[in-house]
Amino acid sequence: MEVCGYFGGTNESAKTDDRKEFQRMLTFVKKKKIANIIVYSTDRFSRAGESAIHTLAKIRRIGINLVAVTQPADTQTSTGRFYQNLNLLFSKYDNDQRRDKTITGMRHRLLNGYWMGTAPIGYKNTRDEKNIPIIVPSDKASLIRKAFEWKANEDLSNAEIAKRLEKYGLKIYRQRLTDVFRNVVYCGLISHSLLNDQVVEGKHKPIVSKALFLKVHGIQEAKNHKSKHNKANENLPLKVFTKCEACKSPLTGYLVKKKNIYYYKCKTVGCSCNKNANDLHDKFTDILNLYQIDEKLIAPLKTQLKYTFEYFNTSNEDNIARLKYSLKGIEENINKIEERFVIGEIDGGLYQKYAKKYKGEKEGIEQEIQKNSLDSSNLDIYIDNSLELLCNLHNIWRLGNYNEKQKFQKLMFPDGITYDRKKDVVRTTKANSVFELMRSLSISFNKNKSGQKNKNVNLSAPVIATGFEPVTVCLEGRCSIQLSYAT
Ligand SMILES: [Zn+2]
Repeated sequence: MEVCGYFGGTNESAKTDDRKEFQRMLTFVKKKKIANIIVYSTDRFSRAGESAIHTLAKIRRIGINLVAVTQPADTQTSTGRFYQNLNLLFSKYDNDQRRDKTITGMRHRLLNGYWMGTAPIGYKNTRDEKNIPIIVPSDKASLIRKAFEWKANEDLSNAEIAKRLEKYGLKIYRQRLTDVFRNVVYCGLISHSLLNDQVVEGKHKPIVSKALFLKVHGIQEAKNHKSKHNKANENLPLKVFTKCEACKSPLTGYLVKKKNIYYYKCKTVGCSCNKNANDLHDKFTDILNLYQIDEKLIAPLKTQLKYTFEYFNTSNEDNIARLKYSLKGIEENINKIEERFVIGEIDGGLYQKYAKKYKGEKEGIEQEIQKNSLDSSNLDIYIDNSLELLCNLHNIWRLGNYNEKQKFQKLMFPDGITYDRKKDVVRTTKANSVFELMRSLSISFNKNKSGQKNKNVNLSAPVIATGFEPVTVCLEGRCSIQLSYAT
């Protein structure tokens, strides 16, 4: 054979195929009329596994052979090509195994209390008497301790601490100081992503005491909490949740200090949509009252709801069985296409195309199955909780704190509410379908005073199955409720 060029010899890892030498070689063989790429073994060609098979298939198509000297294979036959592909997969497997071993080793070291990698500021890397790598306090350690003390005793901001440290000759960004104050390594502990949430006692010398570290950490936590707290103004729970009807932008809030009254206001410049906060809260609770149910209705509603959900569930069992059958078919197709790709019957492009198509279909069906399943074991708890909630709607909202209010609002009206300044009306577009169902049942119970078992089961079940239409509740002088389905 005539040799046209030599490639490699650098220290590039064959784990991925974006190696410079590898790419240079590929470009070279595609330009010149090359018949063979000769390697010592397939893992010298690539250890990228599946993607290497893909690359190899491409160069085979333009008539180039991969010759692995220590793993001879007749690549003119399908068996020979399969063997070579298999070797490529094994190279990747071998690589993965090595990686697993490394991780086990690293974890072991961490569990024994040894820091991994470059020493954090205030420490330096060295070796102990048994020649094991370890970190020891550096000449900057005393300054780091000072920083902790300033933080704990004087509650200085990180920017001020950074300034002071610079005067002492240590330049550090304040963002990095935040990391320093959070790193348990300074009080003699080890924490690492490989240890998950476990924290171990380190072999290194602490720079600060655990008490000092906790004191600083307490200050940091309080700071984080405070800034969040400011955003969550207890007086403006409907902020952002309410949108301006005219321009659809979310409402923010402000305080008129003279009167000590809060207002909601549209963000858009020039849009004059604003509203006294207490008034808007009243309008919102008026809407909640529409969903309030009488305590006397709890027992009958519970029975009725169980019927309804169970009816809904049985009509879905057929659906689920059908979906599972199609899912099986798609999984078989995925397996088939993989097989054909591995043995070289189809190329990478075609494989990608079909694999993507099938996987998309698979996801769609899985979601559909999820949607159609109802966890009946939780049904009782679910119904009880919802009914209890429905008896106390506006109290729950009035008495909750900011976060509880927000959660509750979102649960009731996932799309939020809108405020129409011109008509001074609050509108809801879509209510939680479960609440909507309970309300419709409660209305029909009130109508049906005869106490006979009604036929709601048959009426309501199709309602859920086809999904609820958006319900518009409009609060103007008189209250009109438009329900888009029969109760
Ligand atoms: Zn507006």
